[in-house]
Amino acid sequence: MKPLRIGKIFGVELYLDLSWFILFALIVNLFLGVFKDMAGISLRVQILFAVSSTFILMCSLLAHEMAHCLVGRRYGFIMKKMTFMIFGGMAHIEEDNFYKIGSRAELKMALAGPFMSLVCCGFFWVLGVLSSAYLLSFFARNALVSMFFLLSYFNLLMACFNFIPAFPMDGGRVLRSLLWHKKGLLPATKITCDIGLFMGRVGLPLIGFFIFRSLFSVIWLGLIGWFILVPACLQEVKYVAEMIEKEENNKKNKN
Ligand SMILES: [Zn+2]
Repeated sequence: MKPLRIGKIFGVELYLDLSWFILFALIVNLFLGVFKDMAGISLRVQILFAVSSTFILMCSLLAHEMAHCLVGRRYGFIMKKMTFMIFGGMAHIEEDNFYKIGSRAELKMALAGPFMSLVCCGFFWVLGVLSSAYLLSFFARNALVSMFFLLSYFNLLMACFNFIPAFPMDGGRVLRSLLWHKKGLLPATKITCDIGLFMGRVGLPLIGFFIFRSLFSVIWLGLIGWFILVPACLQEVKYVAEMIEKEENNKKNKN
């Protein structure tokens, strides 16, 4: 089924893939697990907190993706569309001018998303501290304080996870832009895509096993690895090699 168009922000059309609703439901369930043992609030209020927390977390994800888009736009990247799906958000970049702008632009654009997640992390942390200090008599104070600290934690997790130096993740793009500057675009792409392939095939499931210690995270990260990282890396190396060959042929023809 076609993704649902939900609106437009800063000139970027926003779409929801139907698989996104599974992500939403999973995160609501995760938050419910936290709120369900809290004394003094009814099931209805627990559900309200879980859904609100998930919605705010999704807005943080949107802020992360928009930061990439807005910094990219300053360098001439054309991004008209963004789709949110089960694995998160994905901006559709018009690729024609992607590599002509240079490593510095890719570096700034890649850093923008995790930076925004860290800003959100700090913002929710401050809200958590303030609400724990000043909302002494609010009936759902504990739930609200937990909500802010959890949102802060999830944004920190989002920044750290995206900073894994494997293409096509933000950290992989940061690493490629640094290597691009020293070794050239194709060798830099090959190195970061090799790391991306390793992380996609085995690294991410191992992180699920050793760090998050649950079968669910092994499967979840395994799916992200196999369906996002591996195809993106295979495609990227091919695309960059073809683009460089085309440019060299153009130069030869001109000479
Ligand atoms: Zn990002």
